[in-house]
Amino acid sequence: MKGKAALVTGSTSGIGLAIARAFAAQSVNVMLNGFGEAAAIEQLRAGLEKEFGVKARYNGADMSKPAEIAALVKATEKEFGSLDILVNNAGIQHVAKIEDFPIDKWDAVIAINLSSSFHTMRAAIPGMKARKWGRIINIASAHGLVASGEKGAYVAAKHGLVGLTKVASIETANSGITCNAICPGWVLTPLVQKQIEARAQQSGQTVEQAKIALLSEKQPMHQFSTPEGIGALAVFLAGAAASTITGSAYSIDGGWTAQ
Ligand code: NAD
Repeated sequence: MKGKAALVTGSTSGIGLAIARAFAAQSVNVMLNGFGEAAAIEQLRAGLEKEFGVKARYNGADMSKPAEIAALVKATEKEFGSLDILVNNAGIQHVAKIEDFPIDKWDAVIAINLSSSFHTMRAAIPGMKARKWGRIINIASAHGLVASGEKGAYVAAKHGLVGLTKVASIETANSGITCNAICPGWVLTPLVQKQIEARAQQSGQTVEQAKIALLSEKQPMHQFSTPEGIGALAVFLAGAAASTITGSAYSIDGGWTAQ
């Protein structure tokens, strides 16, 4: 994998950042993307270069804007000479019943959690086909396989992403490209921390009680999966041993979807 180039969307935080770190540790050059404070992002970028001796760049494209996404893929190819590993990770959440779901929130969740992956793949696949090598890894969710109430947009987007993964795997099957989804259960990141704090506030529980309640509602295993574990799975899916794994949805979910 040494010298290959990866684009990880939404990699300024949480799972995306761990995936970017995992690829950098394999000597893969990395394009970071996502929101955040400029000085903190620059620290992350420079830190990756220093720690792993790779090239790391940052592009702040908004994953809800198709033109910015196309430019992000072009910028990655220009910067590194190729885009070999595409990780679609950027995501947001909004929780409300369908009848109360704000239309702008529905549009934003679908745009960032689903359509952005169509736009990155649309732009990246021609280059991968020309070079006869590519790895596409879509960070879906247990909610790409099963549903929960009040997460209509998220569940629809993640089910859609698992479906899009299968379509891409078929279309690229003999081009040296694989496309797979990773479906994590609960991972303690800023996205989930916000949900725990909201639950604690609504239920009058402590944050610690709300954390255990959240886990035990869905997962037989009362343990969070780690961003590092997901990074390691992404590296495996990009490696030689996984060259015939395509169109799969890999659960890393403490048994959530085994039930
Ligand atoms: P996070 O909030 O820590 O990180 C999300 C990242 O996406 C950040 O870098 C953020 O800046 C970026 N982002 C958000 N909107 C963006 C936009 N419009 N344009 C560009 N970047 C944008 O969340 P996380 O928990 O690390 O989630 C990462 C992915 O993993 C998401 O797709 C999420 O649905 C999925 N996931 C998370 C969990 C979990 O338990 N945390 C479980 C299953 C799936």
